[in-house]
Amino acid sequence: MSNNFDLYINGKWVTTNEKLDVLNKYTQGVYAQVSKASEREVDQAIETAENAYKTMQLSPYKRYEILNKAKELLRAKKAEFAESIMMEAGKPIKQAQTEVDRSIQTLEVSAEEAKRISGTGIPVEAAPGSENRMAFTIRVPVGIVGAITPFNFPLNLVVHKIGPALAAGNAVVLKPASATPVTSLRLAKLFEEAGLPAGLLNVIVGSGSTVGQQMQQDKRISTYTFTGSAEVGLKIKQNTGLNKLILELGNNSPVIVDKDADVDKAATTLAVAGFSYAGQTCITPQRLYVHASIKAKFQEKLVAAMKDLKVGDPSDEDTVVGPMITEDDAKRAEQWVKEAKQAGANVITGGKRQGVMFSPTVITDVTKDMRVVCDEVFAPIVSIIPYQDLDACINELNESPYGLQGGIFTENLDTAFYAAKNVQVGGLIINDSSQYRVDLMPYGGVKDSGSGKEGPKYSIEDMTEERLIVLNLNK
Ligand code: NDP
Repeated sequence: MSNNFDLYINGKWVTTNEKLDVLNKYTQGVYAQVSKASEREVDQAIETAENAYKTMQLSPYKRYEILNKAKELLRAKKAEFAESIMMEAGKPIKQAQTEVDRSIQTLEVSAEEAKRISGTGIPVEAAPGSENRMAFTIRVPVGIVGAITPFNFPLNLVVHKIGPALAAGNAVVLKPASATPVTSLRLAKLFEEAGLPAGLLNVIVGSGSTVGQQMQQDKRISTYTFTGSAEVGLKIKQNTGLNKLILELGNNSPVIVDKDADVDKAATTLAVAGFSYAGQTCITPQRLYVHASIKAKFQEKLVAAMKDLKVGDPSDEDTVVGPMITEDDAKRAEQWVKEAKQAGANVITGGKRQGVMFSPTVITDVTKDMRVVCDEVFAPIVSIIPYQDLDACINELNESPYGLQGGIFTENLDTAFYAAKNVQVGGLIINDSSQYRVDLMPYGGVKDSGSGKEGPKYSIEDMTEERLIVLNLNK
């Protein structure tokens, strides 16, 4: 494929006059040009999905075969996809390769789950007067899944929607992030090669406020699955009425480093997790609650470990911290650090911006109302917050409106389990950073971090309906 890309509707590549320039996020030069969808193409994509869903019910085994084939093709095209992610998302190449490996896993698990969709037996005969009845449930596809995805994992977070949706027997209309649409279009080509019938996957590109807005108002889409910011998630919730909606939103991930922690392990782990991909993942550790008795030691080791972080060109195999997604985002990070400093915080390393690059930053002496603490920073910035009492610490970190994933470092089992029971998150990672994720696990947040879980098995539950079948028997 050249670097001109078109929309993918009904198995055809559709050119439009209006184009979107997709930048190489490091050089800021144009990497690709993509056709933008107007109202007409959005409507066509949804209509096509509806027709395909009605006329092409693939058997579970066929869905398994197609997803499995897509997995094999992706493995064969790993280099092409990793480069695409690196270019349009500015993700360091090693991390881009990891994203492709994870997407292969997501496809594999989706394929396997296609063969495991089943209902349950219901003992209606146990109800008085129903002795002659039997019942069970089956799971049926929801119909059309409308997927809207963010910039930061342009492959794996897209696969987390398309994989389970197709495994469950649905048709999909996908709107990828405007900053990173190319990888999704390559993926559509890959599914075509894997034998997916035309119309079951449609990819339309355009801004959230036009294409995304139109999708939200189209009642033919029965289930929405959105990954992105809480702000946009709220808008979608307000606009999609009674339709099903899966929301995977932001976070300002807390990690506790307790007095009984292996401080070396915590510092070396967090020195990478806090800053890789310039802090732009939804579970990047942001608020580090460190027991006061070990704060000085932890801080020293963290900053020392950060010396090994290579910052710069994402095409360099050694780079850990590349560019931020836009210069405006880098400026926002700079502004938040400046504000924190003015309010009394101490920037112990970093805090510098050069164009789209923002240096890995550690801040101390913060207060809980500073934006670097209470909002989602989505930049390579962590704050160290000392505590004396674990209960008070957990109460404070639970004040966040978010609750996606958190972490705790401690060698004390009681402390670990106490935190597991009391930290308000969708997942708590013990002796690792909040950033741990493998693709088969249930993943999703509480509070403003969203509702519904991803991981193919869990998404399939949301992307199918449970239908009850009751038999009224004569004997
Ligand atoms: P945004 O919320 O800005 O955008 C996400 C998607 O929504 C994009 O495709 C965007 O389109 C679209 N969109 C924007 N406005 C609307 C609208 N009014 N109606 C419909 N769609 C709209 O998020 P980012 O792309 O900046 O991604 C970063 C965010 O995603 C962070 O908050 C991060 O925490 C979160 N995230 C959550 C994850 C999770 O699993 N919980 C995982 C990864 C990221 P366009 O690009 O055209 O603006």
